Amino acid sequence: MKPIAAMTKDEACALRFVLMDIDDTLTQSGKLLASSYTALWQLREAGLKVIPVTGRSAGWCDLIAREWPVDGVVGENGALVFWEESNLRGKPVLKAEYHPQAVRNDHPVLARIKARAMEEAPCLRPAKDQFARLFDLALDFAEEDPVLPLETAERVKAIALEEGAAAKVSSIHVNVWMGLYDKLSMAERFLTRRFGWESGTGDREVFFAGDSPNDEPMFARFPLACGVANVLRYGGLIRKLPAFIASRECGGGFAEIAHTILERRKEFFQNQFIDT
Ligand SMILES: [Mg+2]
Repeated sequence: MKPIAAMTKDEACALRFVLMDIDDTLTQSGKLLASSYTALWQLREAGLKVIPVTGRSAGWCDLIAREWPVDGVVGENGALVFWEESNLRGKPVLKAEYHPQAVRNDHPVLARIKARAMEEAPCLRPAKDQFARLFDLALDFAEEDPVLPLETAERVKAIALEEGAAAKVSSIHVNVWMGLYDKLSMAERFLTRRFGWESGTGDREVFFAGDSPNDEPMFARFPLACGVANVLRYGGLIRKLPAFIASRECGGGFAEIAHTILERRKEFFQNQFIDT
């Protein structure tokens, strides 16, 4: 991984979209930092489309799509995307799309996985935002105490895969769902359908920032992907690391990334002005 400071002006100026994970990428110790929230506003004011891509629940995504300075939010690890459009009177209207393969989380296989996982790891618990989820089962191993080792999270993932579900490990939850989709498939679908993005020719128009194994499909897909420094905690659990890494962890790392993108773009446009 190269330091984010190595990003070039040309790379920054070709961007149209900045996508980012939320937990431990924008937040630190569970709180959304002022610096990362400010960075979202600044990126958007610079004309970039800002799109969080998270494992968080549909309920949280409703709030994020309505209240944050974003152009959409992919939630529940790719099961859904929410965004706002203006109606004829200029009033914002919330729009939602669900992945065609998304299966509601009352599926009996998910109940069996939950029972097996909690029997093997009695301290594991459903995430407190489970009530706001439509499609996935989130099992908390590190959002609240007791913090369980990553090996426990990996074991829960293995149980889910054995039972025929999909599973990803984030910095705080193991997310389990039925259906073949992930953060990447929904992000690509949304960029294409909402903004006319083209896979291949548009690959370098997308920047992604993340921190943990459930971000790996995004790290692997986009040449301009960056980890916040805490991505190093996952060592061998992420096979395809991002091209860039920030020097700072969590929200501080995201602010550093946003600052770099905005500075490079500013330098480029200043030079354009001087050249003409
Ligand atoms: Mg995260």
